[in-house]
Amino acid sequence: MSESIQADAVDAPKTVVVIGGGQAAGWVVKTLRQEGYAGRLVMIADETHLPYERPPLSKAVLAGEADIETVRITKPDEFAALDIEAWQPDCATAIDRATRTVTTRSGREVKYDRLVIATGGAARKLPANIAKSAHVTYLRTLDEAMALGERLRRSQRVLVVGGGWIGLEVAATARKLGVAATVIEGAPRLCARSLPNEVSQFLLDLHSANGVDIRLNAQLVSLDDHGDGVRATFADGSTLDADFAVAGIGLAPHTAIAEAAGLDVQDGIVVDEFGQTSDSDIFACGDVANHPNAWLKRRVRLESWANAQNQAIAAAKAVLGVKTPYAEIPWFWSDQYDVNLQILGEIPAGATPALRGSLEDKRATLFFVEDGHLRGVIAINSARDLKLARKWMNQGRAVDIAALVDTGKALA
Ligand SMILES: Cc1cc2nc3c(=O)[nH]c(=O)nc-3n(C[C@H](O)[C@H](O)[C@H](O)COP(=O)(O)OP(=O)(O)OC[C@H]3O[C@@H](n4cnc5c(N)ncnc54)[C@H](O)[C@@H]3O)c2cc1C
Repeated sequence: MSESIQADAVDAPKTVVVIGGGQAAGWVVKTLRQEGYAGRLVMIADETHLPYERPPLSKAVLAGEADIETVRITKPDEFAALDIEAWQPDCATAIDRATRTVTTRSGREVKYDRLVIATGGAARKLPANIAKSAHVTYLRTLDEAMALGERLRRSQRVLVVGGGWIGLEVAATARKLGVAATVIEGAPRLCARSLPNEVSQFLLDLHSANGVDIRLNAQLVSLDDHGDGVRATFADGSTLDADFAVAGIGLAPHTAIAEAAGLDVQDGIVVDEFGQTSDSDIFACGDVANHPNAWLKRRVRLESWANAQNQAIAAAKAVLGVKTPYAEIPWFWSDQYDVNLQILGEIPAGATPALRGSLEDKRATLFFVEDGHLRGVIAINSARDLKLARKWMNQGRAVDIAALVDTGKALA
């Protein structure tokens, strides 16, 4: 047990309750035990599986190459050794801050000394006046990924609604399985919120080369049952048929119980750099939390694997009085076909990056430099460059653009 926990021992929690059973919740309970917390630990989770990682869901799990055994955060016997009361499947429905009580759908109640909310979010749904077909699916959970994978394998054509990360990964996996795929995107380019023009174009070319029919500026009017499948109708009157549709149109954070409990919620549950909410006994982390990001110098709600793990670790330590600020540079990756794409830091809108390598060769690093320092990096099949960039960014090291773009010399 660390010294700072012992210093806080008078105030040490006797019961910690964690709401949620995803990656962030998994890291909270693991970290609490690793840090020496020996009290009662209750995890309320509405999925039946033990905490698992979601990135493989749109990749290996969808392709039928991975299952629960490969995506779990802790093996069942290791989880059992953590001595956690896992209330699952059950759903926390209310938090009473005055009595420090959490109530669940099944009618159970538990009193907490500290509470961690790691409820993530749900796949955003298409409006009911558009999605009128029974053949519209979403992808957020392992069970959905398994079912979607099976369905893909017996389908000829899938319609993907949304040209963001999940939609594009589903399309790439569909092609891998030999299924024809059409992606419809309302915006004029792919992943427009997180990528500059040239990388959106790169992804468009990549998917087109792999046989995906990508339709930008698509104004979807409705999805209706048609025969055994679905028919999409667009504003210009054109239609498109598929066996089924998968919509990847973003995430709706699960903030309802926090809001109802009177916690500060603004695009996620508002927390400080330690994961503490507007109630000092309640913490939040992962996709549901909105934190002040030191690198971006603004508040942000991140939806990434790295954030779900590392913010959870910082929050779990803070629960025990060990205050280590979560101050990591935002990092996200995606795998599509033979391309691994990683984004680190901030990609300033409209900025011209220094380009190392070549997008045509599918091996390139785009460095976004401000005042002689890196603000952000996009690495395409160049994980080593990204690793180095992360080191330099953490060190605050100045960079020389001529050296960054010179592929004749290794970066060091
Ligand atoms: C298909 C897919 C692919 C992804 N790929 C990548 C990638 O390549 N790279 C990357 O960096 N990130 C990726 N991500 C994002 C990453 O997986 C998420 O950021 C991460 O899973 C967030 O973890 P979390 O624990 O905060 O939330 P979640 O994973 O959403 O977990 C929250 C859990 O809490 C449960 N819950 C919610 N409310 C309650 C309640 N009231 N009571 C009980 N339980 C409740 C939910 O059912 C859920 O099980 C991907 C996500 C998805 C869905």
